[in-house]
Amino acid sequence: MTESRTVLITGGAGGIGRGIAAAFLEAGDRVVLADVDEASVTSAAAEIGAAAVVVDIKDAAAVARCLEQVEREHGAVDVLVNNAGILSVHGSVTELDADAYRSIIDVNIVGTFNMTQAVAKRLIARGRGGAIVNISSIGGRQPTPGMGAYESSKAAVDSITRWAAIELAGNGIRVNAVAPGPVLTPMLAMGMPEGSPARAAWTSRIPLGKLADVDDIAPAVVFLAGASAGHITGVSLAVDGGQLLT
Ligand code: NAD
Repeated sequence: MTESRTVLITGGAGGIGRGIAAAFLEAGDRVVLADVDEASVTSAAAEIGAAAVVVDIKDAAAVARCLEQVEREHGAVDVLVNNAGILSVHGSVTELDADAYRSIIDVNIVGTFNMTQAVAKRLIARGRGGAIVNISSIGGRQPTPGMGAYESSKAAVDSITRWAAIELAGNGIRVNAVAPGPVLTPMLAMGMPEGSPARAAWTSRIPLGKLADVDDIAPAVVFLAGASAGHITGVSLAVDGGQLLT
């Protein structure tokens, strides 16, 4: 029997985070959801049987407090899933406002960095290795007009993945990413209902002929965090129905 781990999932109140959490719980791990949205994270955690903490990942001091709380209440973090992100900033390169661009960089890049740094320091001090899985996006490698602010933030997440992987390998800490194409979270499904032109346009770009479900993403995260992926570090695994082939 494998030992159960403490798994911390940022953005755990959201569609993908909640699905990833359910998959780790299924594997027998202790799961803590961390999110800036207190009401949502509290109810999501209660629904699936996880614990909840409130943190704004943009704020390094809040991240430090959050990790102290998690360690005190649930034990040291073995696995970090950097899933929190904002997707809602859209605009062309000629029109996007710089403050809007900064808002996405602050969460998706600086927030991912803050969490990675704080957890990595604790994992190094503990000396037992660990795993970090970042949720990136294939948008970091394939452009869609209007989405470059988000996409460039995810290219940075892929780069942070490699940066941390090479520096932390000597401490037995593996760092990987999962890069989904569009995922049918409840929010995305609402904005892009079945049969809508938007849904058809995205689907036509995907060789396997469908958008991902959350259940297509979560197993890849659990795999990369686990012993079966013990010789894998620094990769960003596309889970995109083949979209990057087109
Ligand atoms: P979501 O909006 O449902 O969830 C994101 C969560 O992050 C929310 O609960 C939000 O409160 C939280 N969050 C935002 N800012 C935060 C902050 N500063 N500190 C802490 N928490 C914060 O989005 P989702 O679709 O579940 O996306 C989750 C991840 O997957 C994101 O990183 C996103 O970029 C990535 N992703 C999503 C898709 C998709 O199609 N949905 C595709 C590829 C990648």
